Amino acid sequence: MAGVFDPAAPPGATIGILGGGQLGRMLALAAARLGFDVAILTPEDDSPAARVAARTLVADYQDAGALTELARCCSVVTYEFENVPAPAVERLTALGARVAPGASALETAQDRVKEKSFFEANGMPTVAFTPVTTPGDIVRGLRRLGAPALLKTRREGYDGKGQVWVEAAEEAEAAFATISGVPAILEARADFRRELSVIAARGRDGAIAAYPLTENRHEGGVLRRSTAPADASDQTRAQALTIARKTLERLDYIGVLGIELFELPDGALLVNEFAPRVHNSGHWTLDACEVDQFEQHIRAIAGWPLGPAEPFAAVEMRNLLGEDAGRWQELAAEPDARLWLYGKREVEPGRKMGHVNRLKPLPR
Ligand code: AMP
Repeated sequence: MAGVFDPAAPPGATIGILGGGQLGRMLALAAARLGFDVAILTPEDDSPAARVAARTLVADYQDAGALTELARCCSVVTYEFENVPAPAVERLTALGARVAPGASALETAQDRVKEKSFFEANGMPTVAFTPVTTPGDIVRGLRRLGAPALLKTRREGYDGKGQVWVEAAEEAEAAFATISGVPAILEARADFRRELSVIAARGRDGAIAAYPLTENRHEGGVLRRSTAPADASDQTRAQALTIARKTLERLDYIGVLGIELFELPDGALLVNEFAPRVHNSGHWTLDACEVDQFEQHIRAIAGWPLGPAEPFAAVEMRNLLGEDAGRWQELAAEPDARLWLYGKREVEPGRKMGHVNRLKPLPR
C-alpha cells in the first residue's frame, strides 16, 4: 500500500550519532523534529550537538562501555565526520548495532588512494595520481603527472590541511617532511574553472534523491561561500547525477553524502572526493528545500522514504568563521537572511561558528 513502510527506526526510537560538532547538532535537530531521541557519543565536553540531544555519552570513540551502551539504546547509529575510528564502527556492528553509512563507505572515504581508486575503477573521472611512501615516489610521480603536483596525506586531511604543492623534484624531500613522512598521495593539478558539489541520498529501499549542483568558493582551504542551484549545463548536471548515483550504488550507501567536483573549462567534471556524511556545502538546503540534507539523512538511515530534493528558492550560503559570528545582530535583522549559529563557546580564528543563508527567488 502506498505510504506504508517498515521503518528501521520508528518515531520514539533513539538514533546514535558519533561526533558532537555542528553537523551532529543539525542532525539532532532534524531527528527531534521527526520524534526521535538522539544519543551523541563524543569525547568533547559541552559539545554543540550535546546541547540539543536527549542524551550524551562523553567518552573516547573506542570506549568499550560507551559503545556497548550506544548499541543497546539505539535503533540505528550514524556519524557526523569521516575520521571516526573504523574500529569503533566495527565494534558497534559486532555488538549488533545498525550503522549507516556502512563500514565500506567509511573505509573508502578515509583513505585518499582507496577513494580515487574507487572512482577510477567505477568509470568516474578523477585527477591522475600515485601513492607515495618515499620522496623517491614523489620524484617519479612528478615525471608522470607533471609539475606542480599536490601532495596530500592519505588519511585525516580536512579543510586543506596536510597538503603541499610540489613544484620540482628538488622539493620532494622537503615536501615529504612537511607532511611528516606519512603515507600520502601525489595528485596531478586539476585546471578547473570552478568547484561544485552534489549532495545526494540513498534510502534503505534503494531510492536516490539528489539536490541540485552547488558552486563553492574556498579561502585558505576552508569553504567560504556556496551558491545554489549552480548555473550549469544539462550535460554537467547529468554527469554529476551519474557520479552521485554510481557512488551511492557501488558503495551500497545508506544516508546522505557530499561529493566534491572540479568543473573543467569545457564543463566536464572530475571527482575530487566524497564525504560520507552531510556536508557544509549542503547547508543551503536547510532554508530552501522542503526536506533538507539533515532530515534526508535521518529519513534514509531510519528506513523512511526519502523526501523531495527540489529547492523553492535560490540561496547564497556564507560560513561565519571566527569573529564573523559577532555580527549576529546585524544578520538577524536582515529580512531575507536565515541565521544558524552552532553554540560554540570558544571563538577561534577560522573556526566554523555558524552560517547564514540568503534567499532569492529561483531564476526562471
Ligand atoms: P581536498 O582536501 O581534496 O578537498 O582539497 C582541498 C582544496 O584543494 C580543494 O577544494 C581544491 O581547491 C584544492 N585541490 C585539491 N586537489 C586538487 C588538485 N588535484 N588540483 C588542484 N587543486 C586541488
